[in-house]
Amino acid sequence: MGLIRSLAANLTRVRQRAARNQQQVGATAPAHSLPHGQFMSNNGNNARRCLSLQMMTSRRRSARRTDGVDKNVWVEFTQLAAEYKVVNLGQGFPDFSPPPFIQEAFCKAVSGGPTMHQYTRAFGHPPLVKSLAKFFSGIVGHEIDALEDILVTVGAYQALFCAFQALVDEGDEVIIVEPFFDCYQPMVAMAGGKAVYVPLRPSGAVLSSGDWVLSAEELASKITARTKAIVINTPNNPIGKVYKTEELQMIADLCIKHDLLCISDEVYEWLTYDGAKHVKIASLPGMWERTVTVGSAGKTFSATGWKVGWAMGSGQVIKHMKTIHQNTVYHCATAAQEAVGHGFEREHKLFGSPESYFQQLPATLQQKRTKLAACLESVGLQPVMPEGGYFMIADISSVSDPEHRKEFDNYIRFCFVKDSTLDAAEEILRKWSQEQ
Ligand code: PMP
Repeated sequence: MGLIRSLAANLTRVRQRAARNQQQVGATAPAHSLPHGQFMSNNGNNARRCLSLQMMTSRRRSARRTDGVDKNVWVEFTQLAAEYKVVNLGQGFPDFSPPPFIQEAFCKAVSGGPTMHQYTRAFGHPPLVKSLAKFFSGIVGHEIDALEDILVTVGAYQALFCAFQALVDEGDEVIIVEPFFDCYQPMVAMAGGKAVYVPLRPSGAVLSSGDWVLSAEELASKITARTKAIVINTPNNPIGKVYKTEELQMIADLCIKHDLLCISDEVYEWLTYDGAKHVKIASLPGMWERTVTVGSAGKTFSATGWKVGWAMGSGQVIKHMKTIHQNTVYHCATAAQEAVGHGFEREHKLFGSPESYFQQLPATLQQKRTKLAACLESVGLQPVMPEGGYFMIADISSVSDPEHRKEFDNYIRFCFVKDSTLDAAEEILRKWSQEQ
C-alpha cells in the first residue's frame, strides 16, 4: 500500500513540476499577449526579436485535430517508471521471445532473397492474406476473400486508425464501451467524430471480469441518429472480460436495428482462461457485412515489435480503409508479413492440438495470472480475475483517496505477461510485507 501511495505521490510531484515549468515558460514569453505591431522597447534587437516571436505565434502551427489528444498514458508512465526506477507493471508486452517456429520463419524470410527486402502488395503480402483468409474463414463461418476482405496494417493500432479515419465522418458519434484501450477516443476525435461512452458495470461482487456487464438498455439509450459505430474489445483491455455469445448478440441486434458498424478489437483473441471462449461478433448472423475485426500478430505470436496487424471484414467496408492505408503508410514490412503468414499456416495445421501455440500461450499465461493474483492478495488488494488478455485489475479502494467516486477510479491495472516484472514485484511486496 505504501508502494501505491508513494507512486501516486511521485506522480503528483512530477505533474506539479511540469505545471510549474509551463507557467515559467508562459511568463518569459510575453509576445503571446502583445497586440500586433507593438514592441516592448525601442531597442532594435529586442524589437526584431519581438516581431519575429509575434510572427511565429500569430499563425497557428498545429492542426486542430491534434488539440486535446497530445497526452498519452504510455508515454507518461514509461517515462515516470524510468525516472523513478520503479518496476513497471503497467505496460503490456512480453519479455520473452516469440516461439522458435516463427523466429525461424522470420530468419528464413530475411535470407530469402531480394523480394523479401522490397515492397510487397500494398494491402497485404499475398502469402499472409491467403493464410489469414484460410485460417479465419472457418472461424467466422464466411468464405473470406484474401484480396478483398483483409487489410494488413502496421499493428492493430494502424488497423484501428484506418477504421476510424475511413468510416467516421465529422459529427458522427461512436459508442465506446468503458473501460477501453486508450487510443480509441483520440482516434475518433482526430477523425472529427464524437466519442460517446457506455460503461461496463459490476454486477454483485466483482471477483471475475465476467462480473462486469453491459446493460442493453443503457447501450440502446446512447444510440442517436448520429451514431455510426460501436467499438468493442474482447478479450477486453484492461478488465479481461471475454464477451459471451448472448452479450455479443445483444450488441449485434442493436447494430442491425440501427444500421451501425461494429469495430471489434480482438487482439487478445487467443488469450482466454478457465474455459472462457472467444467469439467473434462478425460470426453472428448479419454481422459480417458491418463488422471490422482487428487483429495483431504482436499479441498472437508474442512479437509486438514486428508491428503486423490486420483488419478483416466485408470488402465493401475494407475498401474504404484501404484508401486511408494507401495514402498514409501504403505498405508494411515484407519479411515480417512473410513470417506471420508461415505462423498462421502452421497454426492452421495444428489447430486445437496441444502443439498449437494458440493452446500453449494461454496455458503459460494462466500460471502468471495466478502468480500475480496471489501477489496482490498477499498485500490485501482484491484482484478481479481476468477471463482473457494480459491484464488484471485490482480494487485499491481500501488504500486509495476516498474522493475517488467514479466508476473505475477504485481500480488499477497490472500486466502479468512479463516474468521479469512479476518476479521483481513479488520481491518488493514480500520485503514490504516483512517490514510491516
Ligand atoms: N488493441 C488493444 C486492446 C491493445 O491492447 C493493443 C496493444 N496494447 C493494440 C490494440 C495495439 O496492438 P499492436 O501492437 O498490434 O498495434
